[in-house]
Amino acid sequence: MDLFEYQGKQYFARYDIPTSPGGVADSVGEAIEQAKAAGFPAVVKAQVQVGGRGKAGGIRLVNNEQEAKEAAEFILGLDIKGHVVKRLWIEHASDIKKEYYASFTLDRNAKLHLAMVSAKGGVDIEEVAVTDPEAIKRLHINPIDGISYDQALELAKSAGIDQEALEGVADVLVKLYECYTLGDADLAEINPLILTPQGKVHALDAKVTLDDAAAFRHPEWEAFRGVSELDGRERLAKEKHLNYIGLDGSVGIIANGAGLAMSTLDVVNQVGGTAANFLDLGGGAGADVMSAALEVINTDDRVEVVLVNIFGGITRCDEVAKGIVDALSSVEMRSPIVIRLDGTNADEGRKILADADLRGVIIEKTMIGAAKRAVEIVDEGASK
Ligand code: GDP
Ligand code: MN
Repeated sequence: MDLFEYQGKQYFARYDIPTSPGGVADSVGEAIEQAKAAGFPAVVKAQVQVGGRGKAGGIRLVNNEQEAKEAAEFILGLDIKGHVVKRLWIEHASDIKKEYYASFTLDRNAKLHLAMVSAKGGVDIEEVAVTDPEAIKRLHINPIDGISYDQALELAKSAGIDQEALEGVADVLVKLYECYTLGDADLAEINPLILTPQGKVHALDAKVTLDDAAAFRHPEWEAFRGVSELDGRERLAKEKHLNYIGLDGSVGIIANGAGLAMSTLDVVNQVGGTAANFLDLGGGAGADVMSAALEVINTDDRVEVVLVNIFGGITRCDEVAKGIVDALSSVEMRSPIVIRLDGTNADEGRKILADADLRGVIIEKTMIGAAKRAVEIVDEGASK
């Protein structure tokens, strides 16, 4: 689970990692109040789970109430790389002398934790990794040993962190490691970690990915969950017990079984299309589950065609077909549906669909044929 910046900062606070005081706002009025509470100058920051918010206009420094109002009006509702801003984080602005980078993540190949530190923070770290790889210092950490303060200090020195910031950075590294390990994160990243003219080191941004497999021992994560999903659709899918992951494309995908869903994504790509989601109905999916899946996908504006790919095993195709007929009597689909049914009771299933004579429903016999047909529909829409 990816956390928003403000949630990441809340998480940091549990491990004593210094951040600026601030608060969240969901409206212009709240934003003005939070800016006043934080004290001017303040920073108004878009809460979206995507980097480069600054460049996209999602971060503004404000000096008074009027500017706070204008910034909030501008940023709320702003679309940053497909993420619409619904919430702001507002904190007291920091004076920046230097911007650094610090992170812990899991190096799966090495089977060790990996610390990364750079004196070149604030900018896109992936870019630094390409243009100036030497500027990022790495240290592998055995989880049994952990990282000591002295090791952290050495790492900071080798990364070229300024003398006056060394102790502060080492201190943050040790705490960030605790946050990452005890906090069961897959990633804990601070970019920028700043040095102020007063000589203080603190986190100006927070990127935390929690390890979902550890959720059972963190009941407190529930508080993050309600709001941390990209959109209401993922929450809706979760309520309906569907295995759903939102993507960026235009072909809505429904399949039974994770493997078939993955293959469907591949086949759509292969014929020049892009998937809007991954959706696995699970085994033995009946009519109610199919209705739920169509309902979820129907709320996605990016979807231009739905591709239903069912291989009947435990799941019987006639059940699936009934589900589609049922669903279409209650849900008005925004886009056409291409259906491929194969396996158990496929003939019965196809007959049910044919008899129902549903508008906007196209039946294909093969997976590749269905994918091609779906992509054609998207292309026809684009050329109109
Ligand atoms: P990101 O672009 O989405 O990673 O957002 P960040 O939170 O990292 O902020 C981007 C940049 O905005 C930082 O590198 C800073 O240069 C600037 N910024 C953010 N907060 C402050 C602040 O309190 N004071 C000043 N002067 N600049 C800030
Ligand atoms: Mn950042």
